[in-house]
Amino acid sequence: MVTLVNIREDVDEILPGVVADRRYLHENPELGFQEFNTAKFVAERLEALGVEDIRTGINITGVTGLVRGTADGPGKDRVVLARADMDALPILEENNVEYRSKNDGVMHACGHDAHTAMLLGVARVLMDRRDTFAGTVKLLFQPSEEAGDGGALGMVEQRVLENPHVDACFGLHVASRLPTGTIAVMDGPKSAAADEFEITVQGRGGHGAYPHACVDPVVIGAHIVTALQSLVSREVDPLDRAVVSTCAFKAGEAFNVIPDTAMLGGTVRTFSGETRDRLDTRIHELATGIAESMGGSVSIRYRRGYPSVVNDPAMSDIVRDAARAVVGEEGLEEGKPGMGAEDFSYFALERPSCFFNVGTGNPDKDSEWSHHHPRFDVDEDGMAHGIATMATALTMFLGQEG
Ligand SMILES: [Zn+2]
Ligand SMILES: [Zn+2]
Repeated sequence: MVTLVNIREDVDEILPGVVADRRYLHENPELGFQEFNTAKFVAERLEALGVEDIRTGINITGVTGLVRGTADGPGKDRVVLARADMDALPILEENNVEYRSKNDGVMHACGHDAHTAMLLGVARVLMDRRDTFAGTVKLLFQPSEEAGDGGALGMVEQRVLENPHVDACFGLHVASRLPTGTIAVMDGPKSAAADEFEITVQGRGGHGAYPHACVDPVVIGAHIVTALQSLVSREVDPLDRAVVSTCAFKAGEAFNVIPDTAMLGGTVRTFSGETRDRLDTRIHELATGIAESMGGSVSIRYRRGYPSVVNDPAMSDIVRDAARAVVGEEGLEEGKPGMGAEDFSYFALERPSCFFNVGTGNPDKDSEWSHHHPRFDVDEDGMAHGIATMATALTMFLGQEG
């Protein structure tokens, strides 16, 4: 069987190569669904390692490959999936590092360069020790996590969880708020579902001095904004968590003209499906009711974004055991749910899964800037913990009885 000590030694040995890969990816970032060079780089690396059944072009730029263990054991018919995202953000990098982005205005400011490099590292560690485990690891590199336009969903729709049938999924995200040497794992809902709404209020414009001859969409809109604020405070269980934020309110151009329309836009974040459905319905009801009672009308566009990532406790326990072996009990933290969104949720909806965080914050390396900040960077030493924890968790899953 795999001994954990050996995995850690192997990871230390390959870390310089992983760092070089990460820096190459950092220098050459690509936006969502444009990760053509990144995907080519990934596929070439997998091929050089001898990874089997490499498939490319899944949902435009997604890549998968299989590492088949050659040992005999209880997991020999099982398949476990490890996922990395590959896309960068439309941000102009402000770091003065030698591996600064060469693609001005595009930057790996969330650490997806590290995720991709780490999963290639996992591939290498597992290929080197195929004789120590039974079963199959499916490596998955997905496009477009950031833009909310379906990198993961499209891959699931193209049946990446079949052929061979995947039994469980694991994913990780680096975290600048966690110090290097810590791994955070939690059970249950980890990230919020992120939906957006756009409400167009139709009134009847006219002269600002003659409001009685008009239907003022600005006043209707203001009532709607206020009413929406009562949804979370009055209609959501205080022990549940939700956010409704009206972030845009656009209407009018002149000080003496009542406009014809007003537009409100905002975001809705929820953890439970029930609350999600309820807020969707209630936003429609409130906005429609208020507008109609005031003589106007509304048209509403409500777009459902990524669902909540929900971790399976049994899968989280596997990651906890793996993390203890890598960073010790003192490095293992209880994770906290966040209101951000993450499309790993589409894998977690389909299979028992765990998504965990790997600390890369280090004041000595100036890597504590928040994600999506133009100075964001990762402490590359943290990648060793990510690779070792992921590789260990995958082989532990395959090594489990039953
Ligand atoms: Zn991000
Ligand atoms: Zn991210």
